[in-house]
Amino acid sequence: MSIFQNAIKQLEEMKAIINISPEIYKLLEVPQRILQVNIPIKMDSGELRIFEGYRVQYNNWQGPYKGGIRYFEGVNLDEVKALAFWMTIKCAVLGIPMGGGKGGVIVDPKKISKNEIENLSRGYIKTLFSDFGPQKDVPGPDMGTTPEIMAWMADEYGKLNGASAPAAVTGKPVEVGGSLGRGNSTAKGGFMVLENLLSKMDINNPCVVIQGFGNAGMNMAKLCAEKGYKVLAISDSKGGAFNSDGLNVNELIDFKKLNGTIYGAPRTELLNNQEILELACDVLVPSALENQITEENVERIKAKIILELANGPITPEADKVLENKGIVVVPDVLANAGGVAVSYFEWDQNLKGERWSDEEVSNKLRDLMMPNFFKMLELSRDSHISLRKSAFAIALKRLEEAYNSRNI
Ligand code: NAD
Repeated sequence: MSIFQNAIKQLEEMKAIINISPEIYKLLEVPQRILQVNIPIKMDSGELRIFEGYRVQYNNWQGPYKGGIRYFEGVNLDEVKALAFWMTIKCAVLGIPMGGGKGGVIVDPKKISKNEIENLSRGYIKTLFSDFGPQKDVPGPDMGTTPEIMAWMADEYGKLNGASAPAAVTGKPVEVGGSLGRGNSTAKGGFMVLENLLSKMDINNPCVVIQGFGNAGMNMAKLCAEKGYKVLAISDSKGGAFNSDGLNVNELIDFKKLNGTIYGAPRTELLNNQEILELACDVLVPSALENQITEENVERIKAKIILELANGPITPEADKVLENKGIVVVPDVLANAGGVAVSYFEWDQNLKGERWSDEEVSNKLRDLMMPNFFKMLELSRDSHISLRKSAFAIALKRLEEAYNSRNI
């Protein structure tokens, strides 16, 4: 089943749980707009190459479309639609005045030069300029895109706009209007809810396994290590590193900087990406790609808690099995919402011409994440539904209210 079909299945399952107008369901089953573009780039060699890119503007009932841009060889429209749908739900779970969108370009950023990445990023904005804007659609980073890329995109937007408009792009470096605390906000938001959950479940000194060692996974590993949790295993696209006594996360970060991977780092055992998911641990944190826990491997999953920092790492079929096994899944739409929360703060600061301190950002992140996390827990307990269904119910109610208030 396609990733978008999986996402829509999650929505359809809500029909039996929450009573909202059939019109809302129907409208949320499809994106409002799909933009597909071909971006011509002169490569360093002088050759002209054309890169295919997408922007899906899924829903804007609550505010301008918001969502990252993914640079990845495997990007396709189906995936971007799913990610844009989840952004819609995520912004509504947080109750922030933003809608859902997502973008992507079919490219492996490791296989082209820095200059070519810059030209591609500026080209993406040029091609879609009239569809973006602080009150229209605000892109940010995702897999394969970085603060530097966001700075190029914001600069290009400002040039075409004829005036600087930092609120048009988030995830920028701090020197060009980025927010303090954006760098590790996805992991930090997830870590806040994890700490609370662990204490509720009386799990002390947890051992953690993390799939993915990029923005989400690496920052999560750092936060866990700082708190004294045992980080048992980590993987990246090349493979996994395991140490039964716990990994030295800082050493792995240094190793990755030098070698581009953690695979083969000293004092680690080599594991493949499947093996790492199936390790016995307290907390499993998928922080890479979609569809990692499926019907094929779900029976072998031994974690007590799964914190979805990645979007869509569990298929709906596997989700049901995990629910029956009593494994607690903190759904992506809440677990990784710290990223969009601080992106929203960045947009807000840019619009107001303000700069908030690290502490202010951190406090605001907590104030946004925790009440919605508690609301999700409470509804799940009172209605005997999974945390995912509970998060969707909160989001759908808010979306329905927005739709009705606008009298669309
Ligand atoms: P990133 O590009 O910084 O890192 C991705 C990591 O995943 C890399 O370490 C890569 O090597 C690894 N990876 C790729 N394929 C893998 C595989 N098959 N097995 C194991 N590891 C693999 O990306 P990111 O920003 O950390 O995003 C990761 C996930 O988190 C994505 O699903 C993304 O949508 C989600 N997310 C990110 C943010 C954010 O702010 N960065 C916010 C919300 C959600």
